Formats: sequence, structure tokens, C-alpha cells
Amino acid sequence: MSTTTAGAIAAPSQAGGKRKAAIIVGLLILLLVFPALSLTGVPFLQGLASQANVDVIATTISYALLATGLNIVVGFAGLLDLGYAAFFAIGAYLYGVFTAFQVMPHWSGFWEPLQMLGLVQKMSIGGADVVHFTLSFWLAIPLSALVAALFGVLFGFPTLRLQGDYLAIVTLGFGEIVPIVFLNADPITNGAAGLNGIQAPSLFGYSFGVNSVPYYYVAVVLIVILTFVSIRLRDSRVGRAWMAIREDEIGASAMGVNLVNFKLLAFASGAAIAGIAGTFYIAKLQTATPDMFNFNVSAMILVMVVLGGMGSVWGAIAGATVLSVLQFWFLQDLTNWIHELGTATGIGFLNKLDLVQSIDLIFGVILVVMMMYRREGLIPAVRRSPNLNFDAQHAVVHRGGFIGVERLGRYTVEQGNALEVSDVTVRFGGLVALNKVNLVVPSGGVVAVIGPNGSGKSTLFNVITGLVQAESGSIRFRGEEILGLAPHKVLEKGVARTFQNIRIFPNLTVLENVLIGEHARLSTGPVGAILRPPGTRAEEKRAVEWAKDIIALFGNRLAPRTAQTVSGLSYANRRRVEIARALASRPKILLLDEPTAGMNPNETLELAEQIKDLKSLGLTILLIEHKLDVVTRLADNVVVLDHGEKIAEGPADEVRRNEEVLRAYLGRGAGVSHAA
Ligand code: ADP
Ligand code: MG
Repeated sequence: MSTTTAGAIAAPSQAGGKRKAAIIVGLLILLLVFPALSLTGVPFLQGLASQANVDVIATTISYALLATGLNIVVGFAGLLDLGYAAFFAIGAYLYGVFTAFQVMPHWSGFWEPLQMLGLVQKMSIGGADVVHFTLSFWLAIPLSALVAALFGVLFGFPTLRLQGDYLAIVTLGFGEIVPIVFLNADPITNGAAGLNGIQAPSLFGYSFGVNSVPYYYVAVVLIVILTFVSIRLRDSRVGRAWMAIREDEIGASAMGVNLVNFKLLAFASGAAIAGIAGTFYIAKLQTATPDMFNFNVSAMILVMVVLGGMGSVWGAIAGATVLSVLQFWFLQDLTNWIHELGTATGIGFLNKLDLVQSIDLIFGVILVVMMMYRREGLIPAVRRSPNLNFDAQHAVVHRGGFIGVERLGRYTVEQGNALEVSDVTVRFGGLVALNKVNLVVPSGGVVAVIGPNGSGKSTLFNVITGLVQAESGSIRFRGEEILGLAPHKVLEKGVARTFQNIRIFPNLTVLENVLIGEHARLSTGPVGAILRPPGTRAEEKRAVEWAKDIIALFGNRLAPRTAQTVSGLSYANRRRVEIARALASRPKILLLDEPTAGMNPNETLELAEQIKDLKSLGLTILLIEHKLDVVTRLADNVVVLDHGEKIAEGPADEVRRNEEVLRAYLGRGAGVSHAA
């Protein structure tokens, strides 16, 4: 049954894929032949493909490049960057400074090798020999990508600990700082007057000069390459890690995503693309002033991304296109028309109206309207989940245990304890959440932690998985100290967890969620993601197979929903996805924080059976659970916490009869019952 449903889900998306490919190829052909329309001899077509129009399209594509880059930062990784134009400026000034006639040091023997490489020229000004930089455009493109990426990392560092508003404010600061530095670095940048006479690119001895057509083709090549890169990154381990950060940073780090590396990678990738766009833009314009890179530009690029659909590669391009067309063609024509109307009707006000000057206002209006009526943008990044068909919705669900649990393979049960928590104290300000707590989980055993709300159970999990810091104590996993390790490191060691308040990635599919669980067990980096060598393909294929195997354990509960976004799943199914995601990481110990909370008795029973299956395979489990019957059924040993202290420990039946436990846990002390 599950195969038929999978087929039904896959079929329409494949047809959609073909149509999409056809549209893309069509658009590309149109782009490639467009300038040639000027050769047709048909006046209308010649007018259409005029130098001015070809130039506007090349400019539009530069904005599309910028939007594509910012989309990686804001759309993929969810890092709000309000100063993105800084990297645009860096790319622009890199090429500008090294080709304009601004910086001209004295000539010496030092420059001779560079002269042979064609990077500098010897010039004579007023009898003195000076150096004129002639950095090749083709060299400047990768160089500005690299330099901008370095600045991306540099600017990214201070923002690593910041989220949301704070992050936005810091990036806003960098966006202000960079143009101001260029404004004030007079000797190098010529200040407010800017750089002039920036060298036009040349290819095979032919200089592009002021002919728009060669720039246009360079722009087309750049956007094709960078769109490809962007899509490849998105559909890879790297892209999944970014989206996990966007969806839930804590969840991402607990599932093995190195937040520092992947955030910096996002900043660097976005910055690199802006650097390329900067070099291209300035080579075409042949002049650069600091005010070309002010906040308005950052805001405009952000509006393009939001309008197109955050996280959507095609959306970024569409957003950039719509706003550029509006700005360069439509508003100018409309303004001219209004002026003529003003002259004809004699209404002076109309003559003064200039829509092109009001572009910021118009962007603002677009932003407000989009937020009100279509928040996901023109081309939304989140695919709407296909509806389940009748069969899938009414599929018989298997009760009790996992299906085909042997797929997981047997876990090796080692000698001694898997986990040893010794004298761990955690304090939140004045509150002692854990007070010298000791606890061991033998390898292959199941230990349950119980206790009233607020007794420190979740804090125990958080300190084990590196999400909160301990004041003192030690946590050893398989003999190795793990206290103080970053959450992703703890996961790498084989400690996987679920959260009491489910932390799955809501806008990603079930499959993607489970794949992110595998993050630490895969190795694809950005280069592998872009080039997809056979090794990467094989790894990705294995990863998907493993994820599907894990999903299949839950039978018809999850298998028909593999391609659904998890935000639409039932509560119980979301819990299952979280467990699947943890299992996908091939844990050596599984930490489950109230896995049955919010489940009905049937679902609870089902999950208890599944945990039992894991236990029978030899997986070590630490379980926080409120439902005492579940605890009794599963746990070899029970630890009771109250107000951050361990008040009892032992086999379940024994603990259940313990007076102190009854008083703390059930509020049913001897004194209380007499009073009642
Ligand atoms: P339990 O999971 O047993 O219900 P918790 O471990 O969630 O309890 O919480 C233990 C105590 O620590 C509670 O009083 C809670 O308010 C407090 N606490 C938990 N996390 C934090 C935090 N990040 N900052 C401040 N106080 C916290
Ligand atoms: Mg809790």
C-alpha cells in the first residue's frame, strides 16, 4: 500500500518538474537571443533590443545576482542581514581601486613581475614613473568573491551569538560602516567624488567599452552559474543544515549542526556572490561612488528577496526582475505619461510628480502589501504538501512496535555504564535547577527520570546535550568527558535526544527532517554539494535510503507522509518525526523527554512498544516520563528528581512505593491524606 501512495505523491511533482524545466530552458533561450533582435531589421524588435534596454536587463541581472546571494543568508539560513550592500561595495571597490587611475604608487623593480603578468602598467606622469593597476576583470571576479567572503566571515563573527533583531541591527551597522570607510579613505577611493575611469573588461584583446551587449552576456553567464550553485547548495547537506538553523537553531545544534561553521558559511557564500555582483556592476558602469551602496540598496535587495519568496531561488530572481522593471522602465514611462497628462490638463501638481524618485516609498508599499496578502512571496519556497489520498488517509496502521525494526541493526552493548552523571549542579541565577545530581545509565539499559514539573528533568537533558552550562560536576559518556562540549559535538559522540516541547523543523518535509538527523554522519561540504562528484551522490543516496528506512519503522503513520511538511502533521506524528530524526543520527544513547506527552492511550501504548523494541536491540535509553505505567513497563531503573535533587532511585515498583516519592511526586504524603 505504501508504494502506491508514494507513487501517487511523486507523479504530479515529476510532471511539474518537466514543466518547470521547459520554462527555464525557454527563458534562457529568450535571454540568449534577445540582443540579436537588433539585427532582425524589424523596427519594433530593433527598438526592443536597443542598447539602452540591453543595458537595463544587464543591470536587472546584477540585482538578481544580489538577491540570489542575500537569499542564501536570509532565505536559507534565516539570518536577517540589513547591511548586505556592504559586500556589494567591497566587490565594486576591489575592482575599482585596482583599475582606476586613483592609486598610483611610484614605479620600482618590485612591480616588474606584476607587469609581466599584466596586472600593472608603467606610466609616466609629469616625468615620474608610476604604477597603474590593470587588474583583469576575469581575475577580479573570483578575487572579489574571495575577499567579500572573508569580510562575510569577519562581519559574521560578532553576530554569531545574536539572533533576530540584534543580528539585524549589527548587520545594519556594518552596512553603514563600509560605505563610510570608502567615503573617508580619500587617497584610495577619491571620497565622495568616487572612482572614475574604471577599466572596461576585455576578452581576447577586444575591450567591452561601452557596448552593452558583452556585459549582458557576462551577466547571463553569471546568473546561470550562481543560480545553479544556489540550487545545488540548497538541495544538499549544506542547504539542509542552513534551513535547520533557520527553522530551529537549538534543534539544529542538538541534531549535530555546527552553528558557527554553517552560519559563517552562509554569510561567506552570500557575501561572495555580492562581491561578484559588485565587480560586474562597476565594470559595466565604470564609475563608483560610496552612495551607490547605502542602506537603500540593502533594503531594496531585501525587498526583492521578500517579494520573490524568502528561501526561494527562483523567487529571488523573480523579485529582482519585477522591482527592476518597475524601477527602470515602468515608473519612468508612467512618470512621463503623468507629466504629459499634467501639461494637457494644466494641473501643475502632475508635472512635478516623479515616481522614480518615490521608489523607496513604492518599495515600502509593496512590502506592506506582500506581508498582508502573500507572505510567502511570488514563488514560495515551501512547497505545499500534497494532500494525502483516501487510501493513505485510511491506511491501516500497525499497532505495537516498530515495523521491520531489524533494519536498525543491533546496537553493541558495551561493558559498564554508557552514561555517568556525577555531582552535576546547574544554576539559573538564584534557582538551583540541579543540585549535585548523580545518575548512571548502564550500556543497553533503560533508565527513567521522573519527578514533578520543574524538578529539573529537562535541565538534566539540556546539560547532558550541551544546551546549558553546568556549574560543577562531570558527565562521562562511554568513559569520555562530554560536559562543556557544544551540542553538535555531543551528538557526534552518539547522544541523540528529543525535546519536551517538540523541536522539529516545521517548514521542512518529514524526509528532510529525518535527513538532518543524519547530518553528523555525512560529510558533504559546499564544494561537494555544488560539484556533486560520484562520492557525494552515493552518500546522498545512502542518506535518503537510511532516512526512508527509519520512516518506514513507523509504518503507515509516517511513510505516506514522507513528502509532507511537518507543520501540518498531527501532534503524535510530530513526536514520531522527532524520534525518527534522533534515530537517524545512529545514536548510542537516546534521550527521550516526555515522548508520550499529549498522546492518547493507544498512541502511548504504541510508542511504549516501540521504545521496547529499541531496548531489545540493545539501544541505551534515558527516558523522562510522567506516565508511571509506561515507566514501569520500560525502565530497568528509575531516578526521582524533586527540586533539582535526586530523592530516590531503584526499580520501578520499589520507587512507586517510596513514601518520599509519593509525597513529592503525587502530592500524597501521609500527612496530606490524613488531612483530606
Ligand atoms: P522539568 O523538566 O522537570 O519540568 P525543568 O528542567 O524544565 O523541569 O526546569 C527546572 C527549573 O529550572 C524550573 O524551575 C525552570 O523554570 C527552571 N529553568 C529551566 N530552564 C531554564 C532557563 N533556561 N533559564 C532559567 N530557568 C530555567
Ligand atoms: Mg521538562
